[in-house]
Amino acid sequence: MSSTNTILTQLTTTPKEKPTVEQLGFGKHFTDHMFMMDYTIEQGWHNARIIPYQPISLDPSAMIFHYGQSVFEGMKAYKTPAGDVQLFRPERNFKRLNISNDRLCIPAIDEQFALDALKQLLSIDKDWIPSEPGTSLYIRPYTFATEPFLGVAPAKSYHFIIIMSPVGAYYSEGINPVKILVEKQYVRAVVGGTGEAKTGGNYANGLKAQEIASKEGYSQILWLDGKENRYIEEVGSMNIFFKINGKVITPALNGSILAGITRDSMLHLLKSKNIDVEERRITIDEVVQAYEEGILEEAFGTGTAAVISPIGQLKWQDTELTVNDGQIGEVTQMLYDTLTGIQNGTVEDSFGWIVK
Ligand code: PMP
Repeated sequence: MSSTNTILTQLTTTPKEKPTVEQLGFGKHFTDHMFMMDYTIEQGWHNARIIPYQPISLDPSAMIFHYGQSVFEGMKAYKTPAGDVQLFRPERNFKRLNISNDRLCIPAIDEQFALDALKQLLSIDKDWIPSEPGTSLYIRPYTFATEPFLGVAPAKSYHFIIIMSPVGAYYSEGINPVKILVEKQYVRAVVGGTGEAKTGGNYANGLKAQEIASKEGYSQILWLDGKENRYIEEVGSMNIFFKINGKVITPALNGSILAGITRDSMLHLLKSKNIDVEERRITIDEVVQAYEEGILEEAFGTGTAAVISPIGQLKWQDTELTVNDGQIGEVTQMLYDTLTGIQNGTVEDSFGWIVK
């Protein structure tokens, strides 16, 4: 690993046609270029390059295919009304990439070098950043094992890649409350497992429960802890918050929950607005009880993709809990407006979160 690595750049000679706003969706279109870097025991991370977006070639025995040694990140670049390009707390994503790398025995990347590489990639593909309200450029950095070997051990070679995808507004008609199923059979993660890392296996593991929930008409799963099946962990690929009797509560980070960057930003925003907020363990029974007492005021998920997803309905066993009459709560709306405003440059960034 070395920050003196220079980045070789090869530009495409066949730029692609860009999608229209209507065609955007999520993660379907990719920009003209990608960043790539290799790791070997002998050379460390080396051969940093920006090249035309293209398929990669891997040996069929590459370890990623067999034991899932890979991690990823998700972040966004926004175009401001003035036409500037900005990133939201990107250093946090590269830091978390290394936390995940460490958990999966993947060698650390140089975080500052990765951010510089991303900035170069962005300056080359800046015309791919959509500017319509709610749109952005989704950025996917990831590392994975490439060594051709079938032994179960940390690989001796890796790739680090960054690809970028223009994405549409998550909600086309403003934020919409969703229906959530509280999962009682499957679990996402356990303390001591990999829940705290952004690794593919966690997401593959969640597909079955998500598939069942979708068939029953729910948009996401609310995951409970893997040991006692009572403590609330996360919702889909978002962290979760409840407002109960005037106080905002989110599950404390316990080793099986992903430390969301949106979650952390919400905590800062709430404190700056003098709203009471607690990070602590919270059971599903406490939420049901608050509902029965009429003090479950708001519930929402937070994450990079949607920023905030208000929860209109929760189903736990045979109980259907309707939150705030299925309407968006006051705090939910305030947090959404403030954070999206900071991200797209229409609200002043008093926290120093934006990187131009
Ligand atoms: N939990 C999980 C499991 C996730 O995949 C994500 C998305 N990265 C989050 C929470 C939210 O994290 P962030 O706010 O950093 O996007």
